[in-house]
Amino acid sequence: MVMTDKLPVMESFLSIQGEGYHQGKLSYFIRLAGCDVGCTWCDVKESWTVNEKQYRDIYEIFSEIKSNPAKTVIITGGEPLIYDLRAFTALLKSEGYSVHVETSGAYEAIGYFDWITLSPKKFKKPVSTIYSIANELKAIIASKKDLEWAEEESLKVNKDCYLYLQAEWDRREKQYPAIYSYIRANPKWKISLQAHKYLELQ
Ligand code: SF4
Repeated sequence: MVMTDKLPVMESFLSIQGEGYHQGKLSYFIRLAGCDVGCTWCDVKESWTVNEKQYRDIYEIFSEIKSNPAKTVIITGGEPLIYDLRAFTALLKSEGYSVHVETSGAYEAIGYFDWITLSPKKFKKPVSTIYSIANELKAIIASKKDLEWAEEESLKVNKDCYLYLQAEWDRREKQYPAIYSYIRANPKWKISLQAHKYLELQ
């Protein structure tokens, strides 16, 4: 765990949350660099490595966030929970921001979060503590077998956690019909679309 008042930012931008429970909500995204999970189908492989030039003071990042109208900040990656996010998230919460994090769950959640999206990956399993605090489980479906795995993951989360199935983007034409059929028989799940991609937003 890296205790930090500096964080490596790969990119930051204003957009809508395209996925899951908060789909459609205007949000400011902070994409942190660094990930060791190694998903073969990862669509942000450029986030895996960190370079020194990406490190920015959290007050500088905060000032950028404040210059935008969104009141929701989504910390994503990469795998953002590699970092100790207490200082950064405390700063955001002190000004009333709703702080969301999107994680594979491979590391403990160290920070102050209003919403935790757990998107577990087979490539590096989540830590056990994340299941009890996740607000939504987002399982990425790349093959039929992933539906069985998603079901196993759903048994580990807390009872209030929302359950979403989302097709891996490059296989969406095949997997969304499979997900739809599955949900017809298993209504505890909802479909998550990547609305920002359909709308060609960032
Ligand atoms: Fe890519 Fe996310 Fe998997 Fe890391 S956890 S390899 S960023 S999809």
